[in-house]
Amino acid sequence: MEFAFGEADAAFRSDLVGFLDRELAKGWTRSEYGLGSAVHSDFSKDFVRVLAAEGWLTPHWPQEYGGGGQGAWQHFVLGEEMWKRGEPRGPQYMNVNWVGPAIIKYGTEEQKKALLPPITRGEVFWCQGFSEPEAGTDLAALRTRATRDGDGYLLNGQKIWTSYANEADYCFLLARTGSVADGRDGISVFLLPLNTPGVEVRRIEGFVGAHSFNEVFLTDVRVPADCLLGEENKGWDIVRRTLAYERVGAPRYARAARVLDGLAEWCRTADLLADAGIQEQFGEARALCEAARVLVYRVIDERAKAKEPSPLAYQARAAMVQAERAVGDLALDVMGSEALVEKSVGDAQFRNSLGAGIAAGSYEVQLNLITRLILKLPKE
Ligand SMILES: Cc1cc2nc3c(=O)[nH]c(=O)nc-3n(C[C@H](O)[C@H](O)[C@H](O)COP(=O)(O)OP(=O)(O)OC[C@H]3O[C@@H](n4cnc5c(N)ncnc54)[C@H](O)[C@@H]3O)c2cc1C
Repeated sequence: MEFAFGEADAAFRSDLVGFLDRELAKGWTRSEYGLGSAVHSDFSKDFVRVLAAEGWLTPHWPQEYGGGGQGAWQHFVLGEEMWKRGEPRGPQYMNVNWVGPAIIKYGTEEQKKALLPPITRGEVFWCQGFSEPEAGTDLAALRTRATRDGDGYLLNGQKIWTSYANEADYCFLLARTGSVADGRDGISVFLLPLNTPGVEVRRIEGFVGAHSFNEVFLTDVRVPADCLLGEENKGWDIVRRTLAYERVGAPRYARAARVLDGLAEWCRTADLLADAGIQEQFGEARALCEAARVLVYRVIDERAKAKEPSPLAYQARAAMVQAERAVGDLALDVMGSEALVEKSVGDAQFRNSLGAGIAAGSYEVQLNLITRLILKLPKE
């Protein structure tokens, strides 16, 4: 079977690589600082505007909303090249992967006109307000409330682990408009400007490094009704779709494979590559990166054919976690404690691999879903 990118996508990749070589030479500190660090975000803010000017921030969006009208593959080539270099778009990868597409699919014309153009120009950051102290994996248990208040809503509650909320302009927020007993049927999505009175963002220091973790407290936050995305109480459908995009939105295997190259170089210099055990570990880690790549491509293929998201995304995400972990563990094995030194070749990889199996739905939960939806095993 011949498996290759089409001519147009290959040409796009080659242009993009040239562009990245030029632009990133202007101060990109690579990804040693870890995803989500302030250094990372600062660079991203300028970089995404340049990317937008090239038409490469949202090339896959429809032209009427400021996109380039290109296909899913081109968008993915873009993501792959970005992640190979440590994702210089910073938090913008959320905007372009799933926030914008969710607004395009479920938003009113007014919401689209107001919220999409600033994303296509690279002017705004969004964050994701899903998790709560008592609602992580069990997201449907969330308790942040949105109650009707005249022609708007009052929001009260708390979010946690909200990446980038400290610098985001908007939050894609889940709140309960029905009763707790309604579970998934009582949840709605709000497009919340974070400068609304009553929103308080507090930083959380995490052991995964300089990641921008936050808690977001909402106290009598009054928002107009047009902050609601889609129908009241129908937010779960939006969440399901959003997560399907988010799960494979970040081609993390591309970054892991790049770190693997760096580790091989490190081992060569340290004269470790002749060791058969180490060679085997490198081989396994590389194979996992490649397996993740091919499994993710299957998901993109579905998307390119305009099919609805399928359980393949769970498989692809689980494989990406395995790849990230294999490279992170290898860094620790070969470098020892040096791999934990900040900015060393293995450090950011190891720290990122810790979070990779949790963010966007944990690894264990992906395995549960695979057994049920792909292997069709009975639920105990
Ligand atoms: C780097 C990073 C960035 C994040 N960014 C955001 C963000 O921007 N916005 C946001 O809303 N959230 C964010 N999160 C939070 C993330 O979505 C949650 O941490 C995740 O959903 C897990 O929830 P929890 O932490 O409450 O863990 P829990 O749900 O308590 O799970 C703890 C452990 O138990 C396991 N477990 C739980 N239930 C089951 C089950 N049924 N079967 C098998 N195992 C199970 C899990 O796999 C996990 O290992 C981020 C997390 C990380 C690590």
